[in-house]
Amino acid sequence: MAIATRPPTGLQGGDEAYAESKTIHPRKVKGQFRAYKWWAMGLTLAFWHLAPFMRWDRGPGAPSQAILADLSGGRGYFFFIEIWPQEVYYITGLLAISAIALFLMSALAGRVWCGFLCWQTVYTDLFVLVERLVVGDRNARIHLERRPWNADKLVKRGIVHAAWLVIAAACGIAFTLFFGNAPDMLVDILLGREDVAVYGAIAVVGGCCYLLAGFGREQVCIYMCPYSRFQAAMFDEHSLIVSYEGWRGETRGGARRGQSFEGRGHCVDCKMCVVSCPTGIDIRDGSQLACIGCGLCIDACNTMMDRYKLPRGLISYDSSFNLEARAKGEPAKYKLVRSRTVIYTAMIVVTCAVMAYALAFRKSTEVNILHERSPLYVQLSDGSIRNGYVYKVLNMVREERTFRLQVAALDDARLSVVGGDSNVATTELKVAPDGVGTFTLFVTAPEAKLHGKRTPVFFVLTAPDGRQTRSESLFAGPDK
Ligand code: SF4
Ligand code: SF4
Repeated sequence: MAIATRPPTGLQGGDEAYAESKTIHPRKVKGQFRAYKWWAMGLTLAFWHLAPFMRWDRGPGAPSQAILADLSGGRGYFFFIEIWPQEVYYITGLLAISAIALFLMSALAGRVWCGFLCWQTVYTDLFVLVERLVVGDRNARIHLERRPWNADKLVKRGIVHAAWLVIAAACGIAFTLFFGNAPDMLVDILLGREDVAVYGAIAVVGGCCYLLAGFGREQVCIYMCPYSRFQAAMFDEHSLIVSYEGWRGETRGGARRGQSFEGRGHCVDCKMCVVSCPTGIDIRDGSQLACIGCGLCIDACNTMMDRYKLPRGLISYDSSFNLEARAKGEPAKYKLVRSRTVIYTAMIVVTCAVMAYALAFRKSTEVNILHERSPLYVQLSDGSIRNGYVYKVLNMVREERTFRLQVAALDDARLSVVGGDSNVATTELKVAPDGVGTFTLFVTAPEAKLHGKRTPVFFVLTAPDGRQTRSESLFAGPDK
């Protein structure tokens, strides 16, 4: 589907290569899509600010925060899922599902993410609401902007920026609360008792919120966000996008209430759709890259259609297929099941199934082994060869476990654990609940049993439930 790449009306600057952008002051609108946007804003902000306070009982000694990135403990918690650093593939899976869900959402309903749920949209909408409450609607804001600085302008601008900074700080604080026990952390932050790194994170996230939503606004969507550049590739003729029904609207022109629209278009050229648009475009010029699909122009135009007693939907959320059908007087049809929606859905189902399988059969023990390099081996006085290893056992259950460790594939090998058993065939390793045990091991074997400089050796770790974890390493010795 072709999406025009012309700059939005508010950004056009003649033939110059660079044109200074004008601040866009969208007009207040009422209607169905505005209501959806309020709901979306409420839900996303509620999630962002309240999610860190959700609790999840994981048993004694374990964090009770439902969503937590525990950097000091090296764990991620998401309700019943606990992710160790070795299991980042779960994060990869979640990101893959989110990306494909975004593709599916785009194929079905266009830029519904951009228009309603994206953080940039939500915070820009909130910042504009603050401006509207303090200064007034579009005309009052334009008037204030053009006025020379005086006490009134200073006070109003000061209140707006102070409110933006409070919102931005709250956004930054909400971000940091996902990294610690939120109730305690919030108190510590407010009382100035937190680490300087936490205040740094609040400043960075809050600063980005203040700059992007307060000043960047539609420029972020148009020039910074990569999604707007490739979203058209996910659309087809049945994807719902915001469109102007030119066949019905043209020839446009001013009109009086009660006049006949016989022989002319329904667009009364009131430009309400343009002044309500948060990205400053004229949707009557066709689908554009700068259109975030927020639907506010639809509400604005429907209000005008009602006023002139014309049918609603001159601007609508519809597919290009339906627009063409209507132009020809044919019935509209909605086709949800298409090859791309089927493929995206199948990809989500398969990724979810793979992740569910991985979770259901998740290992409760992980092992890392590192051969000591300096020295590679030591020849003891009896002629036997000794190698050192650092052996780590990740006990991924919430109870202390005692594992049995033995060496395989190296005849007559004996094990010694620093601080534990010495010269045994099998040793016991105790690991704390949900913890990592790090052991320094020595393996000693007769030189006659080695196969040259490098002999393969296996460490077999047996958990109390009998499950074995086998890891391979090398046993170094002198060249034969
Ligand atoms: S053209 Fe309409 S849907 Fe697109 S960004 Fe502007 S107001 Fe929103
Ligand atoms: S709001 Fe509707 S009637 Fe007014 S200019 Fe836009 S398309 Fe035309």
